[in-house]
Amino acid sequence: MVLDAEIKSQLNQYLQLMEGDVLIKVSAGSDPVSADMLNLVDELVSMSSRIKVETAELERTPSFSVNRIGENTGVTFAGIPLGHEFTSFVLALLQVSGRAPKVDQSVIDQIKSIKGEYRFETYVSLSCHNCPDVVQALNVMSVLNPGISHTMIDGAVFKEEVESKNVMAVPSVHLNGEFFGGGRMTIEEILAKIVEAPDASEFESKEPFDVLVVGGGPAGASAAIYAARKGIRTGIVAERFGGQVMDTVGIENFISVKYTEGPKLAASLEEHVKEYNVDIMKLQRAARLEKKDYIEVELENGAVLKSKTVILSTGARWRNVGVPGEAEFKNKGVAYCPHCDGPLFAGKHVAVIGGGNSGVEAAIDLAGIVSHVTVLEFSDVLKADAVLQDRLYSLPNATVITNAQTKEITGTDKVNGITYADRSTGEEHHIELQGVFVQIGLVPNTEWLGDAVERTRMGEIVVDNRGATSIPGVFAAGDCTNSPYKQIIISMGSGANAALGAFDYLIRN
Ligand SMILES: Cc1cc2nc3c(=O)[nH]c(=O)nc-3n(C[C@H](O)[C@H](O)[C@H](O)COP(=O)(O)OP(=O)(O)OC[C@H]3O[C@@H](n4cnc5c(N)ncnc54)[C@H](O)[C@@H]3O)c2cc1C
Repeated sequence: MVLDAEIKSQLNQYLQLMEGDVLIKVSAGSDPVSADMLNLVDELVSMSSRIKVETAELERTPSFSVNRIGENTGVTFAGIPLGHEFTSFVLALLQVSGRAPKVDQSVIDQIKSIKGEYRFETYVSLSCHNCPDVVQALNVMSVLNPGISHTMIDGAVFKEEVESKNVMAVPSVHLNGEFFGGGRMTIEEILAKIVEAPDASEFESKEPFDVLVVGGGPAGASAAIYAARKGIRTGIVAERFGGQVMDTVGIENFISVKYTEGPKLAASLEEHVKEYNVDIMKLQRAARLEKKDYIEVELENGAVLKSKTVILSTGARWRNVGVPGEAEFKNKGVAYCPHCDGPLFAGKHVAVIGGGNSGVEAAIDLAGIVSHVTVLEFSDVLKADAVLQDRLYSLPNATVITNAQTKEITGTDKVNGITYADRSTGEEHHIELQGVFVQIGLVPNTEWLGDAVERTRMGEIVVDNRGATSIPGVFAAGDCTNSPYKQIIISMGSGANAALGAFDYLIRN
């Protein structure tokens, strides 16, 4: 039995929701994974009369495709979609059976209008939290458009393929055989890469806003809701709705919610903003800000949005070490997400750059998977909490090197080592290894502002206790500001604070 009793009972409830018959075409061999896959399919058949099976020769073995009767949908799973991909499999069954996917009608229309052949393949690991969103988005696209197909490929089963394509970070999406994109992507982000972006005129015809929020993370969402609730004309421009929350796995300190997960919280943020009359402009980057009669925000597509007040909430992103090799080997051994990419380094030697809480947590996490983990810390002591340090030092396959200045990440077509200087002696050392996880904190997304508003040496926007910046009418909130602590709940609070500050400014000016 592949599925345990609890999962089976949940699955039973989902299978009741199937609206039509589904044909699973199975390509199996005599290997153990094929045997498990056949068992899984047999179990499903015994649970729903709507599921039919036939054998087939598909591009990969073991794999199976999920089809409508008499019509291939292009949705294929290579390997067994258990672990985090089980939900992707269940959703595929429901959607192929005729149940409408939970995406906006405008997105459905956009997908249906795509012309041409798009053969997507996504390499995943079953423990990757970022992969299911991408798999599910591409499956929805395949179900809705006959020109689009999508295969989820479990990297652990198709190791040779993964090696030959140098896949070292998941999800790794390939389109028609070429690398298309990596990391978590929403369906809108995928669509933006394959259909033409709306042109600037669509934005320029917009009336000036009372409050324009730039950034759609917790701070921006909160600011938009607070502003809209005052009944004033509110807009929000966000490159990636949800912000860093989209990259977060478990959240246990969002007070009053004992446990949630990043993508779930990000979806709730968007849903909450949509409850109000807010003009949401997703997948748009602000490139310039200037105060004239109105405050003008120019987008990268050239459009200029005008507003009486602006709330900057552009958050922060992972800091790069900035050494040779980092950019070249990104996704080829240089990684930033231990939860996602750790399994791809099973049995290998990796380094973690950074000995703060995130670096040490990453090293502890990785030590359970890799053969050896070496932590490189720039200063002479680790900065992580004592409890984390104790745990790290207790591990037999972890080494800590302090006073280590990373000089270079070396490699040929993928990482093969790291060079660091011992800061106390100046001597350079080289360690042969296969992966480097960079964990050295965050950098604010404020470069685009230039000198338009006052920023600290670290690039953080300077705000007062009402969220006001150095320009009258421009407010800021969340991780992009000089707030000392960077947390979801703090960002939401400061977003609310900045919106109230902006409202106060509007009634006085
Ligand atoms: C891996 C990880 C785990 C974490 N775990 C927790 C946790 O458990 N608990 C907790 O409280 N906090 C946690 N945090 C921190 C928390 O996620 C942040 O403090 C919070 O998301 C900050 O919110 P924000 O709205 O200020 O910025 P962000 O979440 O960074 O959002 C910024 C927004 O601005 C957009 N943007 C950026 N530049 C532009 C531009 N030029 N134009 C338009 N839009 C732009 C982005 O696309 C995004 O929508 C974690 C962070 C990470 C990375």
